[in-house]
Amino acid sequence: MIKFGPSGLCEQFSQSGMKHTVEAGKWLQGLGLDCFEYSFGRGVQIKTDTAKLIGEEFANCGIEMSVHAPYFINLATAEEEKAINNHRYIFGSLDALRAFGGKRCVFHPGSPLKASREQAMNLLLKRFEQVLRIKEDCGYSDLLLCPETMGKKAQLGDLEEVIAMCSIGDDSIVPCIDFGHLNSREQGLYHSKDDYKRTVDRLIEGVGEKKANAMHVHFSKIQYSANGEVRHLTFDDDIYGPEYQPLMEVFAEYRLSPYVICESAGTQTRDALAMKEYYNTLIR
Ligand SMILES: [Zn+2]
Repeated sequence: MIKFGPSGLCEQFSQSGMKHTVEAGKWLQGLGLDCFEYSFGRGVQIKTDTAKLIGEEFANCGIEMSVHAPYFINLATAEEEKAINNHRYIFGSLDALRAFGGKRCVFHPGSPLKASREQAMNLLLKRFEQVLRIKEDCGYSDLLLCPETMGKKAQLGDLEEVIAMCSIGDDSIVPCIDFGHLNSREQGLYHSKDDYKRTVDRLIEGVGEKKANAMHVHFSKIQYSANGEVRHLTFDDDIYGPEYQPLMEVFAEYRLSPYVICESAGTQTRDALAMKEYYNTLIR
């Protein structure tokens, strides 16, 4: 089943008089949403007991949880010390994900810094293989790791690079396709349903139907410049896009079951609901 939900708590949540994440499960259920992404962008800072409490409450409300690993991860780093830090960020996120009772962990793959793009990508794949071995050894084989397509041209994580990352792992490595990011790095890639189809068709061809069907999706409108992503916008934007409707039409036509997280700036819950409502009009 396709799922829709927001990344993090929004203005609408606090305006409804609530404060703590644990209260968000019932609130999202009441709105008719299906999932929620907890961001550890600035570091994994949650007590296991708190995470368990939140996870139990969300499970009772039928809201699936995922996590976003810290932004500091760079699997293309040449420094061994930083490679060890990567492990701390990734496995810290998986520990928390386990406590939440969730299945998916999204991460930003990394940047080349001083190396050439090709060298950096080779190193990244080598380091990612090491992460996957540790993941297996630590008993995390049931949790999904989702390398994300990135919004800045300098970052590793165009569609082909994410396909390559997903091709070295088993079924627990699933792509996170951030359509706003791809739209930004390509200066406006998505206008029609066919534009989205090209990405989804290439993904199916590249990672296979099973992984493509289970893909993680980030969606928001994003302002961009020549170098790519500048900042996240809301669905009220009508300059940068991309528009979500043609993508929902592709998901409905292909009968895919992605896990769709909305990352709008402050209106992510409202906008996740807009996507779900539009999708539902297509499958009746
Ligand atoms: Zn991200």
